[in-house]
Amino acid sequence: MRLLLVEDDQALRSEIHQSLTAAKYVVDVAENGEDGAHLGETCSYDAIILDLGLPIIDGISILGDWRKKGIGTPVMILTARDSWRDKVRGLRTGADDYLAKPFQTEELLARLEALIRRSHGVALSLITLQSVQIDLSMKTVSFDGRPVQLTPNEYRTLAYLGLNRSRVISKTELTEHLYDQDFDLDSNVIESLVARLRKKLGGDLIKTKRGHGYVVE
Ligand code: CA
Repeated sequence: MRLLLVEDDQALRSEIHQSLTAAKYVVDVAENGEDGAHLGETCSYDAIILDLGLPIIDGISILGDWRKKGIGTPVMILTARDSWRDKVRGLRTGADDYLAKPFQTEELLARLEALIRRSHGVALSLITLQSVQIDLSMKTVSFDGRPVQLTPNEYRTLAYLGLNRSRVISKTELTEHLYDQDFDLDSNVIESLVARLRKKLGGDLIKTKRGHGYVVE
């Protein structure tokens, strides 16, 4: 799961960044509206956290522009506590959710998780794939009822496949959702990640579609 965080307040930005990384997300960061608009337009994200008051281009303009261009990535806007007008404008411009500052990290994480689930049409935070269970809230995985230790990359791979159940996911798409913008795309990395997951979770779970990618049913 890869996120974009657009926030100009340095302290808040690094606090949110830390919490998201601890929750096993990969996070790209933008400090102003111009960089944020560009990243949101050119990279694939599972969700975007967008502050409204930003230098260069404000959040509402960025959001409106993305939606006009057909970019449908789920967006959570960060608003000032009492500004109901901002919330309404944000939602009507195409935001999927909002959070008023100051907020609790737990609430941010819970809302993000729900936002990402909903965008994949997944109702529950527990995904069951054969004998494997993925708990999207706790970010844990079990196999045959026993907890399995996964690295953050292994977890992200499995969670992304699980959220896109029955859809064949190419290595390129997986890479885009697993690593941040500085990662040098190399499909061997994905192959060895999948091999490690098969070792931990049984060989049948992740199927290879030759020339197309991977799928879980
Ligand atoms: Ca701001």
